[in-house]
Amino acid sequence: MRFLTVAFILLAVMLAGAGEALVSESLVLVGPISREAIATLERDWPLSIDDYDGSFATCYTFQEKLELLDSMPWGCTVLVEDLQAHYAEQRAMDFAGDKDEPWTSFHTYAETMTLLETWANDNSSIAKIVDVGTSVEGRHLRCIVISDNVATEEYEPEVRVIGTIHGNEEIANEVVLYLAERLLTDYGTDSAVTEMVDGMEIWLQPLVNPDGYVASRRSNNNSVDLNRNLSYHWNGSDYEPHPFSQPETKALADYSGGDEQYVPDNVEDNTFVLGLTHHSGAVCLNYVWNYQYTDAADKAHVWHNLCQDYSDGCEDSSYYSNLDGGYDNYGDGYQWYDYMDAICEGAEWYPTHGDVNDWSYGERGCLDTTVELSDGQGGGFPEGDIIDFCDANYYGQMAYLEYADDGLHGTVKDGAGVPVLCTITVDSRTEAFMYNDPTVIGDYWLPLDDGTYDVTFSADGYTPQTFEDVVVTGDTTTPIDVVFSQSGVGDLTISAHQTSDGVLLSWETSAEFIAYNIYRDNGRGNSVGERLNQFRLDGGAACYLDARPHAPVSRYRIEAITPDGHREVYGPAEVRLDGEATELLVGLYPNPVVSELTLELNSGGSDCRVTLYDLSGRLVDNLYSGSLSEGRHSLSFDLASRPAGVYLLRVESGSVSENRRVVITR
Ligand SMILES: [Zn+2]
Repeated sequence: MRFLTVAFILLAVMLAGAGEALVSESLVLVGPISREAIATLERDWPLSIDDYDGSFATCYTFQEKLELLDSMPWGCTVLVEDLQAHYAEQRAMDFAGDKDEPWTSFHTYAETMTLLETWANDNSSIAKIVDVGTSVEGRHLRCIVISDNVATEEYEPEVRVIGTIHGNEEIANEVVLYLAERLLTDYGTDSAVTEMVDGMEIWLQPLVNPDGYVASRRSNNNSVDLNRNLSYHWNGSDYEPHPFSQPETKALADYSGGDEQYVPDNVEDNTFVLGLTHHSGAVCLNYVWNYQYTDAADKAHVWHNLCQDYSDGCEDSSYYSNLDGGYDNYGDGYQWYDYMDAICEGAEWYPTHGDVNDWSYGERGCLDTTVELSDGQGGGFPEGDIIDFCDANYYGQMAYLEYADDGLHGTVKDGAGVPVLCTITVDSRTEAFMYNDPTVIGDYWLPLDDGTYDVTFSADGYTPQTFEDVVVTGDTTTPIDVVFSQSGVGDLTISAHQTSDGVLLSWETSAEFIAYNIYRDNGRGNSVGERLNQFRLDGGAACYLDARPHAPVSRYRIEAITPDGHREVYGPAEVRLDGEATELLVGLYPNPVVSELTLELNSGGSDCRVTLYDLSGRLVDNLYSGSLSEGRHSLSFDLASRPAGVYLLRVESGSVSENRRVVITR
């Protein structure tokens, strides 16, 4: 019986996300509907808005959800019931290009992966492949990184360009591929390209949603719209379990420096200064915010100009002039809406929650822009136009990305030369930003228009530093290197060492403190991290044992409280854990859990056991027992029949074990 249970769990694990027949997507027209109602439409109904003209919204849904929409208080007309069948017909019609010539038909998934690999192999000094994860169906999530000295972290801005995140938006893949090819082939001969490759690190991911691309579906193979699945102001829709529930969005956030509950840490971190996210279905450029109507701090002085540069770059091309207009000037063949510009804030068009732009800017300080390239979706783009179209957008992409090193830059470190994460305030505006490579160089790149600014650098535990009348002159701006010294009423020095029981933190101070709190982060965030001690440590304390340090890096700060209640933050002290301490349990979600709990673990290649205890230490369930091959595994358990409460989950593999608190709610 035990064997059968284990076999069943293994089977369930293997089948998760694979094998089920995909329900076709449908396109519906909802309306008339007000702007107020649009704001919560995606939260309350199984819809993903693709377009809104001020009274009617074009939305994606699924065939099986159509019946649900009958009860909506607005009109709902089915435009296309079976989109995948419609796309197949569309493809068979008159759009097919000449398959024998390059760039005259869409690259397949396999061709895209092979091209990237070939390009990286043929240009190994300036290009490398980074596989950032695998899709629901196990396809590669593949980036090509282009930079001189591509294997080395350098003092240079990092930028990100991504393509097809909605699988039916094929042209988005092509424009990213084409940009990669131009950067590689024109390096050394074209000065703009050479300057960019030498002076930046460019990450290109043409296919964010390869499964959707292969199936010609907007969503991924779990029927989730990936561009609603990131965490920043995610709207808690009933139709998705939690933000970053999908491997495709986890991978994107992982290499983009995401430091969150649901994001793994498998790939090197980047702090992208600028980003481009390509879509199709309309022709416009959108900057943040998408979730709210309030202007972003960077909107007026930087972002609009950046988008204008993209638009102007495209318009220089014959392709756009033949269209009688570009992104900001529509010709007869293209309708646009009276109340807005084609370069606008995303929410001004229609609000969404959990998209790539908002997360990139709100969480990581990256000016990431949506480029809606063309009306064509699902094979509806004329393949014969691919090359001209990519070429036109190439000039837009270059004009936009060139801005990454225009503005203020430098390094921020503490007295010991360790990079420090901080916030920059420019005049009265607050910019959140992160470093490109906080563990190595600590450089920052803040796009700013030419001008004179007062700039303040602030970081937890340090005295803020203000630089007045800083002159910004494009890419010739003089760098400002900041060295922070600790603030406070007295010194407190921390040391941290790895021991067999965990990390032992000890500290010395000559000041009088009445209590301490200990904080830990994984070396990447910009906050003080997670508080470890449940109750304040007494003023007489001088050490603390962290029994569950974060691998591979644990960084500690101590908050010390003075007799008059003032708080001072000291640190950080960082420990790099050696291989022995590699974390076994790398993911546990959702927690609190209602029914299905998923564990992600790094098996050392030995017998593994997962057990559940109640808080009095009694064993209540053997969830799993078996042997797992070396590497990453995902196990799911149904806890729906367990009473609500707090439990202790124990995972053992070889000689390593870990305990985590799990809360079951009903
Ligand atoms: Zn899209």
